Amino acid sequence: MRILIVEDDATLGDGLLEGLRQAGFAADWVRDGAAADRALAGESFAAVVLDLGLPRVDGRELLRRLRARGDRTPVLVLTSRDGVGDRIAGLDAGADDYVIKPVALGELAARLRALLRRGAGEAAPVLRVGELAIDPSAHRVSWRGEDVELGPRERGVLEALARAAGQVLSREQLEERLYEWDRALASNAIEVHVHHLRRKLAPELIRTVRGVGYLMPRPATVES
Ligand code: CA
Repeated sequence: MRILIVEDDATLGDGLLEGLRQAGFAADWVRDGAAADRALAGESFAAVVLDLGLPRVDGRELLRRLRARGDRTPVLVLTSRDGVGDRIAGLDAGADDYVIKPVALGELAARLRALLRRGAGEAAPVLRVGELAIDPSAHRVSWRGEDVELGPRERGVLEALARAAGQVLSREQLEERLYEWDRALASNAIEVHVHHLRRKLAPELIRTVRGVGYLMPRPATVES
């Protein structure tokens, strides 16, 4: 479970980083709103601990941008702004929880665990095609009941094909899914990812339609 800490105060940021790591989270720390925006646009985090008073992009503006682009990563706002008005504005801007500084690390960790549980409960439904299951919110993929480790790009290609099961997707359509991570794609990137997916899952899961693109066949029978 990787947490992004956004905090401009060096002492507090360092304390949060160490404390959350000791509590068993993987954590990254950025010190301003613009760096947080870039990190969140490029990678996925299980949750964000967000200070509101930040240089470059204010925490509330960051939260607004995040929600405006459909990012539903749970956000715990950590701030010294303890006015009721600030709290309401923060929650209305899309925060999932709101904690006033100073906070005990034990409480923060417990609140994060609660947020992650809630997030899992409200998660988008698992996408299933035959024996393939993709849980987009948890970034989990399983095949025949076994979890499969995939990179984010592989998962992106697989999810696109699964959502379009039974239809052919062109290489260009699949490449669009990867621009999120990598703007300078190698011309054979999709072929490489498909090759890895076939090896890690099953060769028959993705068919090449010569001159057109790739297809994930729908299972022949639908189990009830
Ligand atoms: Ca601050």
